[in-house]
Amino acid sequence: MKFVNEYRDADAADRYARAIAAITTQPWTIMEICGGQTHSIVKFGIDELLPPEITLIHGPGCPVCVTPVELVDKAIAIATQPEVIFCSFGDMLRVPGSRGVEEREKDLLAVKATGGDIRIVYSPLDALKIAQTHPHKQVVFFAVGFETTAPATAMAVYQAARQEVKNFSLLVSHVLVPPAMEAILASPHNRVQGFLAAGHVCTVMGYTQYEPLVQKYCVPIVVTGFEPLDILQGVYMCVQQLESGRSQLENQYARSVRRNGNETAQQLMQEVFKIVSRQWRGIGEIPQSGLGLRDKYAQFDAQKRFDISNYAISEALLFQSITESTECMSGQILQGIKKPHECPAFGDRCTPEHPLGAPMVSSEGACAAYYRYRQWM
Ligand code: SF4
Repeated sequence: MKFVNEYRDADAADRYARAIAAITTQPWTIMEICGGQTHSIVKFGIDELLPPEITLIHGPGCPVCVTPVELVDKAIAIATQPEVIFCSFGDMLRVPGSRGVEEREKDLLAVKATGGDIRIVYSPLDALKIAQTHPHKQVVFFAVGFETTAPATAMAVYQAARQEVKNFSLLVSHVLVPPAMEAILASPHNRVQGFLAAGHVCTVMGYTQYEPLVQKYCVPIVVTGFEPLDILQGVYMCVQQLESGRSQLENQYARSVRRNGNETAQQLMQEVFKIVSRQWRGIGEIPQSGLGLRDKYAQFDAQKRFDISNYAISEALLFQSITESTECMSGQILQGIKKPHECPAFGDRCTPEHPLGAPMVSSEGACAAYYRYRQWM
């Protein structure tokens, strides 16, 4: 396959691994910040190719995994309302809310199984189309994702406003990568000495946003792609910096990422969204780390449109009592403090068929990657 096989060449990977070993003189810990990179690393055994001094740890790069349980509960509350068609990316359907595993409303899939009109879509514009063809229904899109998917959400809102679509709204949970990286670097538990930044996010946003982090924390950041050779080259560039005492922002993924990114997409995001603080599942609130609808688009905010105050979550929210399964250590997984196989529930009480936490559900989740490719650990 053109432009894929070239980046999976085993001999070239071996040469990169030997080049990394040749320049490594001491232990280094490097975090990748994208779930797609995590899956490549685990699937292709990239971490096992590296010298023992290099530890790769997996960051909060899976948007499904970091969507807070409160918002999943709100999605379930809206989706159970009879006049609603609830549209979502497929991964979100099996993310557990705060209710028990046997409950009808434990996740969106359970709501669908008991008659809820929940539809899997591949784009927010598909949800907008459903709204236009079902004028007597309320159509809600669960807008989850990093900066990569935010422009498509912004386009759906912008089009809905222009076309005066009244029965369309969004439950917005978009999050931003640089504030999450700063939260990790500022944590007293931080182990990260270098980052592989997420190539797809930078394709949209460019990479100038990372310069303040490099300067403030003296940490190398290498914008990196997703194929095995991309990741090995990213690690090589990062180790080169660490070994020479440099901390710079570099771009390994130059075939896709430009310094200023996609400015048209950014303008659309600016038009529709404002920056807000956001809760991250398993981590807590990170200031200025999310996107919310601007006031001029507030009529498309599903949280304002639907009265879910009678739903049981409201009471729990009032007392701040919504929690993860007590067994799930997703917060530590998402911050790179623990690896999935170190969770006592991994592969036993927690599997993709019966997940206790979001990292086991999503195709980008670290626990799902280890379950799929590393069950022997
Ligand atoms: S293996 Fe399951 S329970 Fe453990 S951290 Fe991962 S998702 Fe949570």
